[in-house]
Amino acid sequence: MNEEKTIVEQLKEELCLDLKNSALIMEDEEIIAADNFSEGYKAFLTQCKTEREATAFAVKAAQDRGFVPFDSKKKYKAGDKVYYVNRAKAIILATFGKKSLGEGVRMVASHIDAPRLDIKPNPLYEDSELALLKTHYYGGIKKYQWVAIPLALHGLVVLKDGTSLEVTIGEREDEPKFVITDLLPHLGAEQAKRPLSEGIKGEELNVLIGSRPFKSDTGSELVKLNILKLLNEKYSMIEADFLSAEFEMVPAYPASDIGLDRSMIGAYGHDDRVCAYPSLQAALECDNPEYTAVTVLTDKEETGSAGNTGLESAYLRDFIADLAAGQDMRARDVLRKSKCLSADVNAAFDPTFPNVHDKLNAAYINKGIVVTKYTGSRGKGGTSDASAEFMGEIRSLFDKAGIIWQTGELGKVDEGGGGTVAQYVANLDVDVVDVGVAVLSMHAPFEVVSKLDVYMAYKAFKAFLV
Ligand code: MN
Ligand code: MN
Repeated sequence: MNEEKTIVEQLKEELCLDLKNSALIMEDEEIIAADNFSEGYKAFLTQCKTEREATAFAVKAAQDRGFVPFDSKKKYKAGDKVYYVNRAKAIILATFGKKSLGEGVRMVASHIDAPRLDIKPNPLYEDSELALLKTHYYGGIKKYQWVAIPLALHGLVVLKDGTSLEVTIGEREDEPKFVITDLLPHLGAEQAKRPLSEGIKGEELNVLIGSRPFKSDTGSELVKLNILKLLNEKYSMIEADFLSAEFEMVPAYPASDIGLDRSMIGAYGHDDRVCAYPSLQAALECDNPEYTAVTVLTDKEETGSAGNTGLESAYLRDFIADLAAGQDMRARDVLRKSKCLSADVNAAFDPTFPNVHDKLNAAYINKGIVVTKYTGSRGKGGTSDASAEFMGEIRSLFDKAGIIWQTGELGKVDEGGGGTVAQYVANLDVDVVDVGVAVLSMHAPFEVVSKLDVYMAYKAFKAFLV
């Protein structure tokens, strides 16, 4: 009897896919390393809440590690490190490999934009002696989640005289914060009858910015005037300057540990900084790769990758073309042989909402990096479906490097869906697969990830690039 059980156990071990919690598999020292890595990640999350801030962080980190601005007229040799910044909102880092570019590059592409509320071009108004800012949401959000939480304003304004000014209000403890008000439950009976998607409507996302009037016996809209006066005193702004500004409202709180065991991180913007930060760290430490290692931190993924800082634009292809030209090669010959990890998050299984997932194909917190063969919706619409051959390659690479991985599909068939930059990289004739971290409450103003998964992402990107 006992012996038979052993055979069953043995067979199961040999034949069955067995996903264990990473904490049960990882060595104690590695768990400590993961916890330490998360401290750096948390600092990055707290400091970088917009694509511009993440780009500036990456530039500084790259320079500190000896990366220099890419010059398409220069010849580079193995081990040389360069970076290219696209309009202050996206960055590509490259470390030249020992092999010729004709063998292709190894690429990791993630995005540094995150869902948020953009301030409209003519936003400021006064109503009932309150000053408010109109917003237009950016990316897929559940609007009701953005009311009654502290918000900070981040961005850049170009003044009438052409001066460009960075503005951040609401991050330091001594700075004021902003908020979008919600109806009290006592008077919310009609609102409560609305479907959840309309609980708060787009035009109700108005940010409270002031309430004290400019002191005067005459004149109207004195609260608004007082706000304009304050903006003018501090930033030399006039109302028309909002037109040439990119102001973003983001949650005003820092990243923090979640759980008594401190095993998770709660923060704004894990999607997709939880892949961007580990891939950046992997790129910085990639000193002498076999293949040229290219790390892309892109913008505009959350709105569909359109625009000149998104991956539907020519900037990545042209960068590779410039690299190729430096070795007297055509871009297409480099791209055809190139391989890419599209580093983006997947939805983590949430026991409170189990019905949207196929349990067999869902991703789980703490079970390692998620390899997502395809995304899309309906009959795999709008996706790059990675080939069996490329999946085989990635799987064996991860196994050899001791990477804990799992598979994941974004929800049940026909439950919804989503996309990543993978399809745009695939369009360049590159082999690509989605690999990333499982996130709870994805796209909420406070998302949750596991520290062990973040570290596993870093290890995976490193194994791929080196
Ligand atoms: Mn994403
Ligand atoms: Mn997203």
